[in-house]
Amino acid sequence: MTMTNAGALARLDEFEARERIVEVCRRMHERGLIAGGEGNVSVRLAPDRILITPSGVNKGFLKPANLAVLDDAGRAQRRGPKASSEFRLHLAAYAARPDCGAVLHAHPPHAIALTIADLPLSQDLIPESVVSLGRVPTAAYATPSTTALAEGVGDLIVHHDIVMMARHGSVCIGPDLDTAYDRLESLEHTARITVIARTLGPVQPLDPIEIARLRALAGDPSPVASAAAQEEALVREIAARVMAAIGPR
Ligand SMILES: [Zn+2]
Repeated sequence: MTMTNAGALARLDEFEARERIVEVCRRMHERGLIAGGEGNVSVRLAPDRILITPSGVNKGFLKPANLAVLDDAGRAQRRGPKASSEFRLHLAAYAARPDCGAVLHAHPPHAIALTIADLPLSQDLIPESVVSLGRVPTAAYATPSTTALAEGVGDLIVHHDIVMMARHGSVCIGPDLDTAYDRLESLEHTARITVIARTLGPVQPLDPIEIARLRALAGDPSPVASAAAQEEALVREIAARVMAAIGPR
């Protein structure tokens, strides 16, 4: 490939990335995951370059030209729109996770309400959430757009693809924009079901053995899942031996 072609490819990638960010922002706005000038989205264009939404613009009406390009120290690489004030949050996520290709920060109402009420996001109520969400930690409250907030999220995002920020919002990451966006939708959907179930009465989680089975089906290689599966097998074997020893009544 010639240098000219490589340059054309890079420009095409950025053009496509701009179109995709605008589309995802429109979906976030339509689904009530952000409102007004809230929320911000970025993608990694190169190891030291990110494309990020601008500050203070309603993301439901964003245009591809409205985006900013920053280096990995947060310095603007183009003239034009000022980057989101939460750019530190995005840089912290990319620094914490070399596999991260996109970052979405939103204000999903039910997920935030749970952090205000200090209630856990019950990802163990429905099978889909066990498989798709896993444990979602909450970072302690910190003032929006500060380094303290970015550092708190960065510490948690090392081991999690979704992090809640108390009284503020969510950070979802993924290898690409679509995966990160799916995580945001699943997060708010699960939070909404949790809130509705809690208004109807006490909620009961799925059986721990069923949770272990779901995680094993989803290919969870974690020691917790395999230990739970082994524990399940042991409990069943002991129960079978006890029943055999007692005999039919
Ligand atoms: Zn925010």
